[in-house]
Amino acid sequence: MHALQDRPYFFDEGVRFQCLRCGGCCTGEPGIVYADQDEILPMAEFLDISPELLKERYLNPFQDGFVVREAEDGRCVFFENGCVIYPVRPLQCRTFPFWFSNMRSLFSWKEVCTRCPGIGKGRLYTREEILLSIQASLPIFEVVWEGDSKP
Ligand code: SF4
Ligand code: SF4
Repeated sequence: MHALQDRPYFFDEGVRFQCLRCGGCCTGEPGIVYADQDEILPMAEFLDISPELLKERYLNPFQDGFVVREAEDGRCVFFENGCVIYPVRPLQCRTFPFWFSNMRSLFSWKEVCTRCPGIGKGRLYTREEILLSIQASLPIFEVVWEGDSKP
């Protein structure tokens, strides 16, 4: 990753982004939202339920952690007119849209822009912040790389 810090990117001037909580990336086609063990307690505390009940109601075991269940219509079970666990949503969700898969090329980025109305709105994320987000989210995708992912 360090060698990649020095090269130019299409996002060198930063990117504006603010999640509008439209649910576009939390609903629709099936995908994987991964949550690791460390993310369970904050989610349970936020919902004021036990970690055991959180797992029983909302999660399925996956690799060393969990995946968030989906409703029959494909939406994440935490989506109810917005993400009901937004402040403690999994790292995978917190780092969207600045994932390696989205930032790897301008072509990929333009495709994401067509799906997320929050891109171009809100505060400016700097090149450094975007690179940190890509780096932070990479381990998640090493776990779920084989699957699809949302948001
Ligand atoms: S599509 Fe973009 S604006 Fe809509 S919920 Fe997802 S991140 Fe937020
Ligand atoms: S947990 Fe993630 S995918 Fe689920 S509603 Fe919240 S932001 Fe969307």
